Amino acid sequence: MQINLRGLVLALTVFSAIAATANALYASYLVQREQLIENTLESNRVYAVKLAESAGSFLRSAQQQLGYSARHMPELIGSPDRLAAEVMRVQQQTDSFNSVGVVSADGTILATTQTFRSFLGTQVDTPGSREALRARQPLISKPYVSIAGNLLINVSHPIYSGDGAYLGYVAGSLYLRNESALHELLGKHHYHDGSYLYVVDGDGRLIYHTDSERVGETVLSNPVVAAVVKGEAGAMRVVNTKGVDMLAGYAPVPTSGWGVVAQRPAKVTLEPIHDLIWALLGYAAPLAVAFLLAIWWCARMISLPLSQLATTVEHQDVDVAMQRVQSVRAWYFEAERLKRAVIASFTSLQDKIGKLNLASITDPLTGLRNRRGTQDAVELMQARATPFSVVALDIDHFKQINDTYGHNAGDEVIRDMAQIMRECSRPSDVLCRSGGEEFLILLPGVGPREAANVADRLRVHIASRELHGASRVTISAGVAHWTSSGPDVDETFRAADAALYAAKQQGRNRVVMHGA
Ligand code: GH3
Ligand code: MG
Ligand code: MG
Repeated sequence: MQINLRGLVLALTVFSAIAATANALYASYLVQREQLIENTLESNRVYAVKLAESAGSFLRSAQQQLGYSARHMPELIGSPDRLAAEVMRVQQQTDSFNSVGVVSADGTILATTQTFRSFLGTQVDTPGSREALRARQPLISKPYVSIAGNLLINVSHPIYSGDGAYLGYVAGSLYLRNESALHELLGKHHYHDGSYLYVVDGDGRLIYHTDSERVGETVLSNPVVAAVVKGEAGAMRVVNTKGVDMLAGYAPVPTSGWGVVAQRPAKVTLEPIHDLIWALLGYAAPLAVAFLLAIWWCARMISLPLSQLATTVEHQDVDVAMQRVQSVRAWYFEAERLKRAVIASFTSLQDKIGKLNLASITDPLTGLRNRRGTQDAVELMQARATPFSVVALDIDHFKQINDTYGHNAGDEVIRDMAQIMRECSRPSDVLCRSGGEEFLILLPGVGPREAANVADRLRVHIASRELHGASRVTISAGVAHWTSSGPDVDETFRAADAALYAAKQQGRNRVVMHGA
């Protein structure tokens, strides 16, 4: 099946509408996505910087507290009770640490907050203590598992005597998995939009994570972590160690070598755009349907004149087809042109058919009807039951005219005959050249006698006239009459011929009425 014009217009419009809409949507999707990513990266960066500063100032103040206490420790070291009171004071006053303790230069626990009293006087040999004893300066330890089995970090400060001898250190612990001041600081800031944060130490080990299970894991392979442990701040889109596409902001925590990373899955960030696109489509749909209906209607209006023209042209009867074409409403230029072209071709066709029709019933020499044309007229009168008279005419001794003046002169005489017949007849009379130099006149509604009179007037007239190219000629005529109640038409014509024959027999130049 071939596609029609309406389908074509519809398909074309729908296609271009879809293409334009998809293009616009895609462009706006790209722009919005870009913007969302930018905004999220920036807000995560700012967030990471802010939290890094908070963490930095928390650690600084923790260290200051320990430092303040450390300055008074030399006086207290000899008195276990006062030392115990001091560590309690430090822990309770600031509430920064999960526990506070004092360790001597040889690693003996001199004082500790309540929970750890049982360890008093024992040697401590944890990675944290070894680190602090070796460094002999303010320190934030790497994460390690304490003697009590907690994953923690130690914030420590050395204790020096008045004369500069190293006496040990005072340390406060921060639990990494259990509740601690660090959790309080970082965990408060919790987004509900899929964002979360984590903190790594200088080795890229997680010391804080929204998911506490992951604390202690080393994630140095993550480019963000690699950057932040180098002390860089910024934002980037990364695939994290779990293979999730993330929009991360990161900032180093001053002095500690830690890094804070705030991040949000790109998928979560971009979800609103998908909702937005769906919402846009939802809003656009009713209008699009209306638009489609309008296009469908327009397509129909465009194709209508063309299909109408096509169907009318298919009609068998040229006259009916012509009338239908005229009534087609060609409302636009091309259709109007087509309509005019169809009308023009129909007009010329009608013209040609008319001419052909006329030619087929006309005698070319005289312009009178031929036998066929006469037949048509007879059939019409028969159908209407119009009585009529028939006059059959024949030029007398026409052979002699031909022989004397030539064939052309004979033709001239025949033409003159026809002209005289026209002059002597009424419009309703049917004039016919039935052959050679023989003619017929049908007189509708005229009786035989009157017809004979008409024929006789014509005979007298012709006899008195000088015809072209020849001297005078005479004619003989036979008259017969037809009525619908009488014998058939052929009989009437035969009767007229018989009367003509009789006229010839009786000496020519006369009119004989059949049956007279
Ligand atoms: P009649 O008085 O008996 O009618 O004698 P006629 O010589 O007229 O005889 P007829 O009617 O039998 O002859 C007709 C002649 O007319 C024969 C033919 O040569 C001539 N003729 C027939 N048709 C034409 C024509 O179209 N042009 C010319 N010039 N002559 C024709
Ligand atoms: Mg003849
Ligand atoms: Mg003759």
